[in-house]
Amino acid sequence: MPELQELKAEEKTAFRIPAKAYAAMGVGENLVPWDFTRRNPRPHDVQVDIKYSGMCHTDLHFIRNDLGFSSYPLVPGHEIVGIVTAVGTDVTKFKVGDTVGIGCLVDSCRECENCKDDLAQYCLNGATYTYGIPDRHGDGITYGGYSNKIVCDEDFVLKVNKDLPLDKVAPLLCAGITTYSPIKKWNIKAGDKVAILGLGGLGHMGVKFAVAFGAEVTVLSTSPSKEADAIKLGAHKFINTKNEEQVKSVQNYFNYILDTVSAEHDYNFYLSMLKTHGSMVCVGLPTVPASVPAANLIFQGRSLSGSLIGGLKETQEMLDFCAENNITSDIELINIKDVNTAFERMEKSDVKYRFVIDMATI
Ligand code: NAP
Ligand code: ZN
Ligand code: ZN
Repeated sequence: MPELQELKAEEKTAFRIPAKAYAAMGVGENLVPWDFTRRNPRPHDVQVDIKYSGMCHTDLHFIRNDLGFSSYPLVPGHEIVGIVTAVGTDVTKFKVGDTVGIGCLVDSCRECENCKDDLAQYCLNGATYTYGIPDRHGDGITYGGYSNKIVCDEDFVLKVNKDLPLDKVAPLLCAGITTYSPIKKWNIKAGDKVAILGLGGLGHMGVKFAVAFGAEVTVLSTSPSKEADAIKLGAHKFINTKNEEQVKSVQNYFNYILDTVSAEHDYNFYLSMLKTHGSMVCVGLPTVPASVPAANLIFQGRSLSGSLIGGLKETQEMLDFCAENNITSDIELINIKDVNTAFERMEKSDVKYRFVIDMATI
């Protein structure tokens, strides 16, 4: 085969890998079938046949350009599980037939302080997210997991235990690591009172991890219909945040609150539930700015912070922890043709507790 650099654009296409996806062709549009091509594996790349792809609320934010930097066609999906079908000449970590995962990151500068510290998600030169971001080597923009194939640098590919139900593993690649990371950082132990705010994709994983680490776990929810599920997931208490009496019972109560809410909400309402020196960490990403008077933090020495997914090393640690402790996501497996209806349900908080696309249906 001739060197790719010597070929004209149309000839290069012939050497690319045909792939199928569902894409948003413009801001806020429904996803439609879209054919495109992926690059052939570079020396350090693995090529993966995608089996399952989880649907994260961030996918909806990106389709709607809520963060202001989406590009189209946009192929969402960063909770990917699949099987390796080809490897580049210099790949050492994977071989054909391996079961693997790909999360929210596919590249980073590898040189900055954070990349060197296994915090590629906070790459100071801008991490390359799995979709909608220019490839660092000039191969257009990245396309995500709502597709049948993906090609990714081996350093951003995770090992997945093939004995786990792979459809239920897919959401661990984002919902899992995003909740595991702050819970690990808090060093949760028996006696800690942890609240998980919002029982959706992230929230239900947060409950499972906080329970696994020994905390007393409370779900704070706007959906009273989710109480029985919360308890089944291992939570010790359920507070309907629309019920004044119940809300009163948890004032100055929690050591930690993990806020997974995707829509506008009043941070002050929840900060008042923290004990002195308690911490609330935001992982949910409402697009409307919050207003928090400094006094609400100062008078009880409370903290408000944020957290973004997790690094590759920590993501592998999380996947291994899940395999050892038999933790996976509670999912509703869907045909890709139903993806737009699934987004409509997600918007109404009607998800139990993650939609996962069966990529065989594409
Ligand atoms: P999801 O499955 O849709 O769950 C969000 C939950 O928030 C809902 O189920 C609902 O729970 C609650 N909620 C919705 N609207 C609310 C409102 N107005 N007030 C109070 N609660 C409300 O979404 P997800 O996939 O878990 O993602 C959640 C958020 O995290 C999104 O904004 C997403 O972009 C963000 N995210 C961040 C990271 C990160 O690295 N920081 C990673 C992934 C996702 P109840 O029915 O229990 O009230
Ligand atoms: Zn996500
Ligand atoms: Zn970097």
